[in-house]
Amino acid sequence: DTEIYYDDDADSSHIEDETVAVLGYGSQGHAHAQNLADSGVDVVVGLREDSSSREAAEADGLRVATPVEAASEASVVSVLVPDTVQPAVYADIEDELEAGDTLQFAHGFNVHYGQIEPSADVDVTMIAPKSPGHLVRRNYESGEGTPGLLAVYQDATGDAKQQALAYAEAIGCTRAGVVETTFREETETDLFGEQAVLCGGVTELIKAGYETLVDAGYSPEMAYFECLNEMKLIVDLMYEGGMGAMWDSVSDTAEYGGLTRGEAVVDETARENMEAVLEQVQNGEFAREWIAENQAGRPSYRQRRIAEKNHDIEDVGERLRDLFAWAEETDDESTENDSE
Ligand code: NDP
Ligand code: MG
Ligand code: MG
Repeated sequence: DTEIYYDDDADSSHIEDETVAVLGYGSQGHAHAQNLADSGVDVVVGLREDSSSREAAEADGLRVATPVEAASEASVVSVLVPDTVQPAVYADIEDELEAGDTLQFAHGFNVHYGQIEPSADVDVTMIAPKSPGHLVRRNYESGEGTPGLLAVYQDATGDAKQQALAYAEAIGCTRAGVVETTFREETETDLFGEQAVLCGGVTELIKAGYETLVDAGYSPEMAYFECLNEMKLIVDLMYEGGMGAMWDSVSDTAEYGGLTRGEAVVDETARENMEAVLEQVQNGEFAREWIAENQAGRPSYRQRRIAEKNHDIEDVGERLRDLFAWAEETDDESTENDSE
């Protein structure tokens, strides 16, 4: 059974006397660092000398040092720089980790695929908020919480899980609930989800639907509304009340058509393709490809980004979003309309 931990399961004594080095002050870093500090934990932010994040961290009242200095001082090192630069940053700070220290992650990629191999005498844990950093911060300040994942890769001290729970409490995750998982499960499900369903699957489904309509002579504006814009309305309903709430809310015609025709689109072949994607995640093929792509300076990534940007649907969408008032509200999370 899936364990879920809440505030009552966490004991702040496992973190309150530690110094936590937060490496990176981006999406997750700024949220973890400020939440930890507001929870009374001693925090030092680790940033390179010429870091563009330094000003923000200092303006937020935090102490800033280099990653090496921060790791040297701290007993818990939270690695919150981008996944692709973590191995290089880790190589710099590796010697600063002492026996009994903790190396903490928010995603398992580098440890799971052997890009970072921590020595056996440190605790290696993960607290992964299931939300972008600005929400981790906002929810903490508003008294709400952000759900998260907890995993222990290596427990050298016997205290790894308790300390990770205390860290999760200090950043507000146990208010909402923390689910226990493993580095392997978190990494593989995260990669599969973003590739097959969330980022890759959804964009290809939308483009394929859009192209099908446009190729058949329908107007690009209509195709955009039907295949992209309305996606949000459908997803919002499923997010709030599951598939059932969505089926209840659409017309009977939409429900019958969806129930009978959806399977024809995502058919057995599509499922086999999904299995192939999962296999490349599990056997490390995707990880090796992505690491090599980065080492080569991202040539293929760059090309695909340009192609995606040049797709017709992007021009149509830009024009329509400019024309309609609804774009105002969804454009920027920090508008005055923000109803909280
Ligand atoms: P960001 O891309 O937001 O991190 C940027 C920060 O890292 C900046 O402060 C940047 O400072 C610093 N940085 C970049 N390169 C280097 C370097 N070479 N040396 C030192 N510092 C550097 O990262 P995220 O917050 O998105 O991701 C951090 C971790 O959290 C990842 O493991 C990610 O998978 C995980 N995660 C992210 C989520 C998200 O929503 N973003 C959700 C859950 C987990 P500088 O100005 O120096 O470049
Ligand atoms: Mg420790
Ligand atoms: Mg992801």
